[in-house]
Amino acid sequence: MKTKFIFITGGVLSSLGKGLAAASIGALLKARGLTATIQKLDPYINVDPGTMNPFQHGEVYVTDDGAETDLDLGHYERYLDVSLNQNNNFTCGRIYHSVITKERRGDYLGATVQVIPHVTDEIKQAVLGVAKGEDVALIEIGGTVGDIESLPFLEAIRQLRSELGSENVLYIHLTLVPYLKAAGEVKTKPTQHSVKELRSIGIHPDIILCRSEVELEESIKRKIALFCDVDRDAVFTSVDVESIYEVPLKFYQEGLDQKIAILLKLPAKNCDLQPWKDLNYKLKNPKSETTIGIVGKYVDLKEAYKSLHEALIHGGVANDVAVKLRYVNSEEITPKNVKAKLKGLDGILVPGGFGSRGVEGKITAIQYARENKIPFFGICLGMQCAVIEYARNVLGLAKANSEEFDKDGPDSVIYLIKEWYDYRTKKTECRCEDSDKGGTMRLGAYPCKIVEGTKAMDAYGKPEIQERHRHRYEFNKEGYAANFAEGGLIFSGLSPDETLVEIVEIPEHPWFVGCQFHPEFKSTPMNAHPLFRDFIKAARDNK
Ligand code: GLN
Repeated sequence: MKTKFIFITGGVLSSLGKGLAAASIGALLKARGLTATIQKLDPYINVDPGTMNPFQHGEVYVTDDGAETDLDLGHYERYLDVSLNQNNNFTCGRIYHSVITKERRGDYLGATVQVIPHVTDEIKQAVLGVAKGEDVALIEIGGTVGDIESLPFLEAIRQLRSELGSENVLYIHLTLVPYLKAAGEVKTKPTQHSVKELRSIGIHPDIILCRSEVELEESIKRKIALFCDVDRDAVFTSVDVESIYEVPLKFYQEGLDQKIAILLKLPAKNCDLQPWKDLNYKLKNPKSETTIGIVGKYVDLKEAYKSLHEALIHGGVANDVAVKLRYVNSEEITPKNVKAKLKGLDGILVPGGFGSRGVEGKITAIQYARENKIPFFGICLGMQCAVIEYARNVLGLAKANSEEFDKDGPDSVIYLIKEWYDYRTKKTECRCEDSDKGGTMRLGAYPCKIVEGTKAMDAYGKPEIQERHRHRYEFNKEGYAANFAEGGLIFSGLSPDETLVEIVEIPEHPWFVGCQFHPEFKSTPMNAHPLFRDFIKAARDNK
């Protein structure tokens, strides 16, 4: 079978859940027994999202190969259960970077380099490259139709229809159909305008997916079909749902995968959605409840901790527990108010982060969790803070800190990574000394040895694992390994050459685990990450 391409554009406004819609369609196609890949094309000029503020842009999602990508890739991996890489996310900046590099090298042989064809060719190459060998390639165009920035991407996908044949290309447009309370009705005008805009660039959508608060009536769907010139049965609702994991089932009930199959002439097969049904049953019928506190600095923007949030929910599914999340602003935590601030929490999690803002509050929260035997999970910066807390309050190194926050302190228990062995390139890497903020971190999946008889081993149940990283600093093993071993905080995960500490834990505590990597990136709803599963279990038992 020739690869079929599904291009997903968005209209009216951003944050309509285009990534989730794309991922859900991918899940349906996989459930029909097809192979599918998925790619995000982002219109901004940043070469990758690695240096973008999570406040504005949401979480930076890291793939196995160490690419720093858009958080939609997280949805893609969780819904399609695939491992993606740097080719699954291209930004406009990366496309231009590559075109300009070629121009400087003389590859264009003196031609005038233009958006069409040079930039659009580069985009098409990225799209075709990722699709190789797959039955279906879903390509999501970031941003909203009408943005100046996304024009080269839209032009490239327009060209692909005639190049690949109309039977191999499908355009799905996601729009908003707002419900006006005062008028007591939904409005189709924004959708009409957005489709008009899309058609003016030469793209005629085949399917319109309407994000809406309410189910759309037949008459509304007819109206949209008429004004936007699509089949009546090509208008679908993407209605608000309680859990994002309901979306594939909703789409299926409306027959979205059927319509896609007809338009793309896909083999007639049934969707096996049993795993999705089971998942939703579990989500709706928990046996108990537990409250987890996330102590971090981005409290108002849950997008900044997207994968983390999902991984905790997955941990709940694995234990039949409803997980209630409470975000606690670490900047407001002091030794005086910590008890009140963390009251009622069954488990405490300190996530990853950069910069000193809120760090002392995190350390105070960790001390509270350690001393009061509340299950604690520290991730990346959270693990580093746990090490600092232990050094200060148990080992008596009052000024212990990370070089990130106190460059010349007397006890840098966390310090800049000097060098590390890269198992992919088989080279010893050290990129930390140059101060370029982009591309100076230890990124992506690395193997880790798990020590027998530890909570880490209880969770993973195997001696070697692979987890994804994104950090510049690490535990100062040379300087302080002996102090910690005597104190009672143990190292339960190490890099295979034993130079880097990847997991720490306190055996005396019900569940106190910190890891240098980001396990949340590898958790899926059907297969909760073992550390999240066990953390939630410990929190539930603590209740
Ligand atoms: N800022 C810390 C470091 O660079 C932790 C990073 C993180 O939490 N992702 O090592």
